[in-house]
Amino acid sequence: MPAELRTLNTEHLIKVTIVRIAVLSDIHSNIEAFQAVVSDLEHRIDRILNLGDLVGYNASPNECVELARNIGMISILGNHDQAACNPILAENFNIYARNAILWTKKNLTDENVRFLSELDENFRLPCGLACHGSPANINNYITLPFQARATLKKMKKGGRGKLKVCLFGHTHIRKAWRMDVRGKVAPIEIPLDGMIRLNADEFYLLNPGSVGQPRNGDPRASYFIFDTQKHTVTFKLVEYNVASAIKKIKDAKLPEFLAQRLLDGT
Ligand code: ZN
Repeated sequence: MPAELRTLNTEHLIKVTIVRIAVLSDIHSNIEAFQAVVSDLEHRIDRILNLGDLVGYNASPNECVELARNIGMISILGNHDQAACNPILAENFNIYARNAILWTKKNLTDENVRFLSELDENFRLPCGLACHGSPANINNYITLPFQARATLKKMKKGGRGKLKVCLFGHTHIRKAWRMDVRGKVAPIEIPLDGMIRLNADEFYLLNPGSVGQPRNGDPRASYFIFDTQKHTVTFKLVEYNVASAIKKIKDAKLPEFLAQRLLDGT
């Protein structure tokens, strides 16, 4: 291993052999996309981590919660998970999202509501933190440079134990930001093979995009593999049966717009 990578503190992960983590986010009741991603995972995955929003928008909330539980995925709480347990929190959602939350609440089993209501907001990795929106708040968006800079600066200050890496979701757009040794913040262009290498001197914000409602303009389900030993993050895109997901949205009489956006990847 190159010397500069040794300072990333991953001993705890390695001791319990958690080396390769599949990181998923924003599955949003899309069982077709979720199953396609799970099938795509290679054999050598030590953990599957979900950055929140198992439910909302699409038509298979129980199936998604049950698959998450069956595969032993580590899940943290998203704003839609929270609203599905307590629909008053959906009052500020847009009309499509709110309608879907009310439908989800009506259709979720009590056991699955209980599962969602018990999720934690953050998950700590030895080299970083996993959150839904931002480390401070599940509803925050990290989209613009000033938002990325604010979070990276807090990480560098060490307020949270000097995090090197923050895994986040919520925007549904795959993205990587870095802060170099001089404190300069910039997005990282994701190469064609999807793989970026992390440098121990830098701080990172990493978003796998969305499994169940991608908004990159590409309808494929999006996730990444975080290799804590090789210090690489490999973004992946997976095709799934969009037509089946759309049919379920229409059969459930959920807003038509939610079906169209799956086709467009928006
Ligand atoms: Zn979401």
